[in-house]
Amino acid sequence: MAVTNGARGPDGSVLDKDALKQKYREERDKRLRAEGLGQYVRAAGDFVEDPYTPVVAREPKRDHVTFTFIGGGFAGLVTGARLREAGIGGIRLIDKAGDFGGTWYWNRYPGAQCDTASLVYMPLLEETGHMPTEKYAHAPEILEHCQRIGKQFDLYEDALFHTQVTGLDWAEDRDCWVVRTDRGDEFTSQFIGMGTGPLHVAKLPGIPGIDEFRGHSFHTSRWDYDYTGGAPEGAPMAHLADKRVAIIGTGATAIQCVPHLARDAGELLVFQRTPSSVDVRDNAPTDPEWFASIATPGWQKHWLENFTANTMGVTGARHEEDLVADGWTDIAGRVKAKVLERVEATGEFDMDMVGDAFEDADFEKMEEIRARIDEVIEDPETADGLKAWYRQLCKRPCFHDEYLPAFNRANVHLVHTDGQGVERITERGVVALGEEYEVDGIIYATGFEVGSSYTDRAGYDVVGRGGLRLSDYWADGMRTMHGVHVHGFPNAFLVQLTQGSNHIANVPHNLTESGTTIAAIVLHALAEGHRTVEVTEQAEEAWLQLLLSGAEEGEDGAPRRPSRVLGSPDCTPGYYNNEGQPPARHQRYNFLGHPEGPLGFFHYIEQWRDSGDFEGLAFD
Ligand code: NDP
Repeated sequence: MAVTNGARGPDGSVLDKDALKQKYREERDKRLRAEGLGQYVRAAGDFVEDPYTPVVAREPKRDHVTFTFIGGGFAGLVTGARLREAGIGGIRLIDKAGDFGGTWYWNRYPGAQCDTASLVYMPLLEETGHMPTEKYAHAPEILEHCQRIGKQFDLYEDALFHTQVTGLDWAEDRDCWVVRTDRGDEFTSQFIGMGTGPLHVAKLPGIPGIDEFRGHSFHTSRWDYDYTGGAPEGAPMAHLADKRVAIIGTGATAIQCVPHLARDAGELLVFQRTPSSVDVRDNAPTDPEWFASIATPGWQKHWLENFTANTMGVTGARHEEDLVADGWTDIAGRVKAKVLERVEATGEFDMDMVGDAFEDADFEKMEEIRARIDEVIEDPETADGLKAWYRQLCKRPCFHDEYLPAFNRANVHLVHTDGQGVERITERGVVALGEEYEVDGIIYATGFEVGSSYTDRAGYDVVGRGGLRLSDYWADGMRTMHGVHVHGFPNAFLVQLTQGSNHIANVPHNLTESGTTIAAIVLHALAEGHRTVEVTEQAEEAWLQLLLSGAEEGEDGAPRRPSRVLGSPDCTPGYYNNEGQPPARHQRYNFLGHPEGPLGFFHYIEQWRDSGDFEGLAFD
């Protein structure tokens, strides 16, 4: 029986949910664009040059290695580390960047910081002995941690940087992969791993005039400190003092760099299409004494499990003790509290009740976030413009304590385009709502390509047994076992988020688990003298059916994400819901996760791995 006991605003008044729903719908409709993902273009040329590390000439590789991993971010680093721990040699990591770090290599914009607590976000803290200096570490510390992992586990030894894989072909006669790159490499590898990340291809709005701009422009993932002055560590960007700068986009990236631009630019224009929800950050330095008291053997696993459990408000798995206690666990905690309240009141429980509780908790949270804007922002029109009218998980939730106050500065102007966005770029500046704004520099905080096919984003196709292309195999949707193994692609492993735990609040946790699992499989294969390992067709199909058993069917017939909000067509458009358009064929199974949620998956995979049976895999 569904029971609704209402949602209350921060002042205790009962919220008019129908009016709010109507407002959310109107705001969404304003933003829906028939062209969906087609409104963007892939950044190219100067926009994607590496501004941080010079490219060094080297001889092409023509050798054989045991394990090649494509991607030098967290996925590659944790897998490489686990392989090394297992005593496996001949590991080669490849990355298009000039060093390890993945997203933290590229995103050096001022203020870049992790949004999930460092103690659970930064992998292998226990193994490396590193104490994060803040509850939410800043980017330079995370990049340094990536380098620390690389050094400690000897992953630099054979790494290939500034190298893009162009081909991966299974050599049937030799039971190994042939790896080709844009640096002329052509070598063989018994195993391959792929962890290229979901957000690594920078995109720009597909609007006219970007190339005509006479000033300077760049994407946030290639921050041009030569132009701005300053440094990722936060030194003032002195070159901007006499400049009028535009930033386009107000997603998670802009939220973090706007306060720095506001501080340093002569004038800052923030072009907003849709406001982000910006909740309290509450960052703090780590107390070394406290850290020493919690850092007992096994501490990070304990924290990871606790965080995962506490971000699963609706399943009942929530732990009483909330170690991380942040915005992510708060969302889930509110839902759980409301469900319990209703169960106590009615003595009953059903899934509609969970949906209602989730909705009420969400309305309350978003009202608090909107009320905070009124408290902080002095100008009422600016305050109104900054308010987000959608459910919190419709877009990436943001957390920051300096973003909103930046708009009280006299040199900062919000250009609220009310869902229209920037229309064109001219030689002199930016056009929005028919008005041209002359600026010296334009910073595109317009995000990354999501929703294109895996192989398209990776920049290469994977050709498995019998010439089978991964792009063809997945044309009707991604198929894997555990999000890691694909039938027809022996000795190949994916390290990514979906079809396993799908734990979006803490992506590295997914990656570390996969890395540990892969190392166990490879060690087993090598120890037993097997040349190949491959998931069986039946096991892959059974896994897909298991994932589908936990997913609701959306109106378009494709499975919906389990939370009912993430990816919902009712949401304001964004990359979470394919810009409000029905999923393409190849996207249908992208967001499936284990029916028992992330914690259920993590418990399952640990047992699967530790049993040593590796059920579903065929070793030969
Ligand atoms: P997003 O895709 O989240 O944001 C892009 C922004 O550009 C949106 O505000 C979008 O508006 C806006 N935009 C697009 N086209 C136009 C236009 N024509 N005119 C005006 N505005 C436009 O990219 P981000 O780089 O901010 O974030 C990407 C992801 O990276 C995050 O969602 C998060 O997962 C991750 N991230 C994580 C961080 C962390 O953990 N610390 C920090 C930063 C990013 P609209 O909303 O209307 O589409």
